Amino acid sequence: MTGRTHDLAAFAALSVVVLTQPARTYTLSTVLLGLLANQIGGVAPDIDQPTAPLWRNLPIAGLFGKAFGELTGGHRFLTHSLLGVALSGYAAKFILAITHSLTPHVDTGYVWWAFMIGMLSHLIMDSFTREGVPWLLPIPLRFGFPPLRQLRVTTGKKFETLVIFPGLVALIIWLYASHYQQLLSLLHRHIS
Ligand SMILES: [Zn+2]
Repeated sequence: MTGRTHDLAAFAALSVVVLTQPARTYTLSTVLLGLLANQIGGVAPDIDQPTAPLWRNLPIAGLFGKAFGELTGGHRFLTHSLLGVALSGYAAKFILAITHSLTPHVDTGYVWWAFMIGMLSHLIMDSFTREGVPWLLPIPLRFGFPPLRQLRVTTGKKFETLVIFPGLVALIIWLYASHYQQLLSLLHRHIS
């Protein structure tokens, strides 16, 4: 899937989790940093390819992306597995623990979850593509849905841009419309 589809999917997944949980109180800094962490998590697994958004914005981008890709076994390998998600989870926890003193108003637990939800949404979305995802590395099998490869999506092609992307937009709109009262109460009473 393309980066923008992953961005939307990560946001949709986070919205589902937040809106279906009992109301909790979040600080504004937690909400903002959580949204950012969620978006980073949503594209983080593609760090293994030279064209990843993160590398594109760096001057010697291609080299870094290539090196990182080779280090993690090539595109759609370690970073696209549960093992990779777990390792990234540890790394994210470590980074949040170090930076916590700079962000005392942030509940790092929620931010961490927002990041992990973003990462998992990436693997789920890539499972719908032809290449599939090696969920269970080191078992070198790629899984996808539907199981028949020919029925899956090709990244960046019409089905993604004309069906999946607008479908995610519709899902988000429906989600917020159907949980409108909850959303209002969250914004008015549960963000401090
Ligand atoms: Zn990917």
